[in-house]
This record gives sequence, C-alpha cells and structure tokens, in this order.
Amino acid sequence: MALRKIKTIPSFTLAKKSRAVEPDEIGSTRINELIDDMWDTLRANQGLGLAAVQVGVLKRIIVIDMNDEDDPESKLELINPKIVESSGEQRESEACLSIPHRSGVTLRPEYVKLEALDRNGEKHVYEAHGLKARCFCHETDHLDGILYSNRLAPGEKMQNG
Ligand SMILES: [Zn+2]
Repeated sequence: MALRKIKTIPSFTLAKKSRAVEPDEIGSTRINELIDDMWDTLRANQGLGLAAVQVGVLKRIIVIDMNDEDDPESKLELINPKIVESSGEQRESEACLSIPHRSGVTLRPEYVKLEALDRNGEKHVYEAHGLKARCFCHETDHLDGILYSNRLAPGEKMQNG
C-alpha cells in the first residue's frame, strides 16, 4: 500500500481515454496493488472518488467512498464501469482532486444505474441518487478524459474554493 501522486490540471494525461481492464488482468497483483494504492490516496486526500487516470494509470478503474454508514454500498471498487441508465436532472456544486481549490456547478442526472466488475471479476449493478449519482458520473467521465469543468451548467463559471 502506498500513496500515489495525483495528477492535476493542466496534465495532458487527464484528457486521455482510459482502456478497459482485460479479463486476464483482473485479480492480478498489479491491478490489486493499484486499487489498494488508490484507496490510500483517496483517503489521504479526503476525496469522494478517484479514477486511476488521476494517478497516471490509463485503466478503467474507480474507487468511491461516500463515507455514509447507512449505505452498505458506501465504499465501491468499480472496474470497467458503465452507466446503463440515467434520469432526472440536478444542478449542484462539484469539485475534483485534480482541479485543486476550485469548484463549479454542473448539470448531472439525478439518478444513475451503473454496471461494473469488482476486483474478483464479478459483475454488479449499482443504483444511485443525488450526490452518489453525481459521483458516478464525475468518475466515469474521468475514464473518458472529461473533467467536470466541461459539464458546467448553463450560465455557470468555475469558482475559487
Ligand atoms: Zn475528479
């Protein structure tokens, strides 16, 4: 377990599309160590979510920690996640460990359904509303090289703090 350095803008890596984790990579020491390091890095930086690209690895892997004791799916490891359904709309403030000291109001779906593999290669379906749905969208966007600053709601600008 180790901390990894978080890439911040204007790193070009953040704009790159991540590749799917291949079936024979799942469960490998290399991938499991990466996920463990992502947990350490997320906790150390008190974030809600982290995508592998943010630590410079172009693989479709996300860790999310909603820090919600009432939610049995508060901590998630998502490999090759895919949003399969979304509905509604929410307009809320968002921030990102890769864009320090900034925030902005984005437009996101209120509800999201996501499919992903866990580190054992088992497929799961997760549903989320509100903040968690926003988090799913924000993190899966990272895997396609998209930052929340590209998703600002009409009339909104990036803010300090
Ligand atoms: Zn982010």
